[in-house]
Amino acid sequence: MALNLDTLCVQAGYTPASGEPRQIPIIQSTTFKYATSEDMGRLFDLEAEGYFYSRLQNPTNDMVAAKICALEGGTSAMLTGSGMAANFFALFNICQAGDHIVSESGIYGGTFNLLSVTMAKMGIEVTFVSPDADDEELEKAFRPNTKCVFGETIANPALTVLDIERFAAFAHKHGVPLIVDNTFATPVNCRPGEWGADIVTHSTTKYMDGHGAAVGGAIVDMGRFDWMASADKFPGLCTPDESYHGIVYAQRFGKEKAFITKCTCQLMRDFGSVQSPQSAFILNLGLESLHVRMPRHCENGLAMAEFLSGHEKIESVNYPSLPGSKYYRLAQKYLPKGSCGVVSFEIKGGRAAAERFMKALRLAAIETHVADARTCCLCPAASTHRQMTDEQLASAGVPAGMVRMSCGLESSSDLIEDVKQALEAV
Ligand SMILES: *Cc1c(COP(=O)(O)O)cnc(C)c1O
Repeated sequence: MALNLDTLCVQAGYTPASGEPRQIPIIQSTTFKYATSEDMGRLFDLEAEGYFYSRLQNPTNDMVAAKICALEGGTSAMLTGSGMAANFFALFNICQAGDHIVSESGIYGGTFNLLSVTMAKMGIEVTFVSPDADDEELEKAFRPNTKCVFGETIANPALTVLDIERFAAFAHKHGVPLIVDNTFATPVNCRPGEWGADIVTHSTTKYMDGHGAAVGGAIVDMGRFDWMASADKFPGLCTPDESYHGIVYAQRFGKEKAFITKCTCQLMRDFGSVQSPQSAFILNLGLESLHVRMPRHCENGLAMAEFLSGHEKIESVNYPSLPGSKYYRLAQKYLPKGSCGVVSFEIKGGRAAAERFMKALRLAAIETHVADARTCCLCPAASTHRQMTDEQLASAGVPAGMVRMSCGLESSSDLIEDVKQALEAV
């Protein structure tokens, strides 16, 4: 029986047998015991499924990963210690020194830094293209050594919407997969796999957890990309892994499982960015209500965007589901149920006005976080982009008076009242 997303949020990933715990058990154990060395040997040879050490895999994590896999409609998935680890692993699983990545430029600052600085040091180059790039610019970005295309469904905090179908078509034309970070939309609002994305990543720290309680990430493979068809591009998946008894992942595990198996056996083994089973348990509590919370975040986000766009002290409002937004058409296509709770806007009067406004807020807290049940906000010019001058800020598309507000689950009329009185203080 094909279950609805709402049911999967509540029940997927774990089905207890008679007499077993109703809630997912937290397997707080580093190691797992075996009766014989042969039994354990079969695990190391990847001939049997099971657990031996929690740096690589843990049963609690795998139950939660299986739920996220079901939500995205994938064939295999894994949890990671953070969203940054998820993006790094997803990219590094198919890219090595001498390779090249095409990425959309609106992406999260942390991932932008990962690609442009840290991975550059590893010999992996990146070409950034605007999410609005025309066909010619997109085509020009590809090189013979390009190994994947990367983008975010809804970029944090730029709030651009990725034309997933189009980016997927370009990636596939060049024999490489499209990796999409679906953190802000969540599978409740968009399932990138349905539009051609091959690998989906998440910072589960955001809406999936949703309560500001546990840092985490996830990678989901849609199981459709045919690695063997572009075997020369993906030696890591299509030729023997000498660090793993000469195994050829794409042959042994097929399209459905090769990517995640390699990522677990190699990258998790060597980097160990595992999520703690405690965090996975907390994440699962969040997932159980994701389908109930997301519509409310979107409702509050839209109400806030509508209120702000009519206000005389506001220069501009950026929210993809607001009619008039540059991304409204794409939002209607990919995010018909709503986009997210994050709204950004520019207050007239620049940095000083934004700071005065934020100081006057009573409900919305000043935090670097987003996608929490509690409304929070941030002035990039006074925090994340602090080192930049007003001119640099303007050219980066982050004007000094810009505020990013993540609308939580409170009453939208209370949130709007709070913003209204704070704007009066400006
Ligand atoms: C927060 C975020 C990340 C990084 O995730 P962490 O869990 O903080 O490591 C990556 N991508 C997007 C879109 C994010 O919002």
